[in-house]
Amino acid sequence: IGTHLAAFTRTRTTCGYCGVGCALDVLTREGEVAAVRPAADGPVNRGHACVKGRFAHGFLRSPERITEPLLRRRSGLEPVSWDEALGHIARGLRAAVTEAGPDAVAAITSARATNEENYLIQKFMRVVIGTNNVDNCSRLCHSPSAAGLTAAFGLSGGTDAFEDVERADCLLVVGANPVEAHPVVGARLLQRVLHGTRLVVVDPRAVGLAGYADVHLRPRPGTNVALFNGLANVLLTDGLVDEEFLRHRAVGLPELTAMLAGYPPDRVASITGVPADDLVAAARLYGVAERPAIVYGLGVTEHLHGTDGVRTLANLAILRGAVGTDHGFGVNPLRGQNNVQGASDMGALPDLLPGYGRVTDGVARGRAERVWGARLPDHEGLRIPRMFAAARSGALRVLWIVGEDVCATDPDTNRVIEALESCPLVISQELFLSETARHADVVLPAASWLEKDGTFVNFDRRFQRVRPALAPPGQARTDFAIVHAIAAACGADLGCPTPAEALAECGRVAPVFAGISHQRLDREGAIPWPCPDPGHPGEAKLYLDGFATPDGRARLAARPYLPPGESPDDDYPLILITGRRWAHYNSGNMTRRSGTIELAPSDHLDLHPADAARHAVRDGDTVLVESRHGQAVLPARLTEEVAPGQVFCTFHFPSSRANALTSDHADTVTSCPEYKVTAVRLRGARG
Ligand code: SF4
Repeated sequence: IGTHLAAFTRTRTTCGYCGVGCALDVLTREGEVAAVRPAADGPVNRGHACVKGRFAHGFLRSPERITEPLLRRRSGLEPVSWDEALGHIARGLRAAVTEAGPDAVAAITSARATNEENYLIQKFMRVVIGTNNVDNCSRLCHSPSAAGLTAAFGLSGGTDAFEDVERADCLLVVGANPVEAHPVVGARLLQRVLHGTRLVVVDPRAVGLAGYADVHLRPRPGTNVALFNGLANVLLTDGLVDEEFLRHRAVGLPELTAMLAGYPPDRVASITGVPADDLVAAARLYGVAERPAIVYGLGVTEHLHGTDGVRTLANLAILRGAVGTDHGFGVNPLRGQNNVQGASDMGALPDLLPGYGRVTDGVARGRAERVWGARLPDHEGLRIPRMFAAARSGALRVLWIVGEDVCATDPDTNRVIEALESCPLVISQELFLSETARHADVVLPAASWLEKDGTFVNFDRRFQRVRPALAPPGQARTDFAIVHAIAAACGADLGCPTPAEALAECGRVAPVFAGISHQRLDREGAIPWPCPDPGHPGEAKLYLDGFATPDGRARLAARPYLPPGESPDDDYPLILITGRRWAHYNSGNMTRRSGTIELAPSDHLDLHPADAARHAVRDGDTVLVESRHGQAVLPARLTEEVAPGQVFCTFHFPSSRANALTSDHADTVTSCPEYKVTAVRLRGARG
């Protein structure tokens, strides 16, 4: 076996799918991936990986990979040289800035890009173009986590390391389906439950963990805030709070106590549909635990009041004194995508610089200006939904999209397409001719996560190395190289010629990352932020010495329940929830071109048998789903995993056009779309 393995090259890297951040050993030979093995010493996965990390790499050599730049001509997208593509982009950028100003240009980056690539893109936008119009895909998923956790505790990340969460004696898993969306985490949580950890699951659907839960609460979609307030009410009423902690380490208790008087279990039951007894039982399980932990997902954030959801969920941990202490494991978002935490950490946000200094804060801006040697714009840029609105209105001249298939992943697809068609220059950096790339004017062939050098940050704030196992095919380039090439075509030099130098420079702009370097990561494997200097181990567990708020205290939030953007009515009697399935990832552009497609070759609409009977739909029938925003066609799957009155599908398959259905209702604080609540109806079932 040893002789046989010697014929392969082994590359240690980090999985490019979900936010768990599994360390993988990629075995290659003659330019092909021969096998992917989960690393036994992987800090998060410890020898495990899911079907995506292990087997979904067939996309690398798909004949559909884009291997040369494409430029839109009269006849459509045609191959051109890099020089021609870059010249076209540079002329477009110059014309837009000259004629309409820097804010006529915007960039959308993504978790597909490494930290160093995200860092370089936001630097290009701020320094070369002179705008803060840069945003990333976290806008669509965990931007309410960033806002809510920062407001409650001071920093924009989960509060604890996953290995600590595993030591909890009670898990409150809310709006997350880790068995499918974060399989390695899901499996490890399940192991803890099988060994006696108590489990409360909050999810309208019977997700994988729900079958093992002591209590499964199934609130009506859009009623989280009422539910969390109800749980907090029981904690207070039953005296299950840490009074010492509340006295010394938190503020806001009187206001919260007054508001929670309006959320007794009976009233919460009437809003949420959760039986009052179950609510009380769940609160008591969490309330009496010695080491409780909260793990949550997009079922908390993707709502009209998603940030309020994060704040009111965080209230529970604060009331229990279970955050920033050694008797509780805080509030921990499961980031959906590989580097969605890192994209935000690197400042690919319209209001925040690398390390979360505000663009409007002269001190933070001044630090970046000194490092970059440039004056920076001091007003906030456009969030993704407002970029599309600006494109539709004609105010946006250039939209540069890096690794994001917005036509598949963003809500209200028809309006997104309208925006792309209205924008004079759309640039797409992609692996494939995705739905978005088909609407672009220039398509640049990009490298995948298995062809890149850099770092990702996973869901518990760990920086880990990404190393290229293969060279990109044809003329494809890394996003890092492409950004440098675009800058050069514009006559600019961004400095930091290598990813290692880019991360080092980022540490000078953002003190919380100052101690993290490629060299250290190569030696140590993973380092969590904050990590202020090279001798610091990084803070896996936050806030033991105080919260990162001005007075060092956590903030309780008195937030009333407000209804979602859409509710079922006579015209649209069902609620659609969208989400993910285990074999696929996000828009599906990689997994649909890999071995995992055989495991789940198409999507389906999950429909409760009672609703199916009412609509005369049989299992496997094709149904037309309509919302106020669009239509989608899907085969029905009859299942009690969804509650009566609710349906579920994913956005993994462009053919099903799930996001043609979703609305432009969005979190009132962060503009995160309300993917979890869309009123729909069924039409035209046929066998
Ligand atoms: Fe691990 Fe997530 Fe990759 Fe699966 S998709 S191997 S759980 S990082």
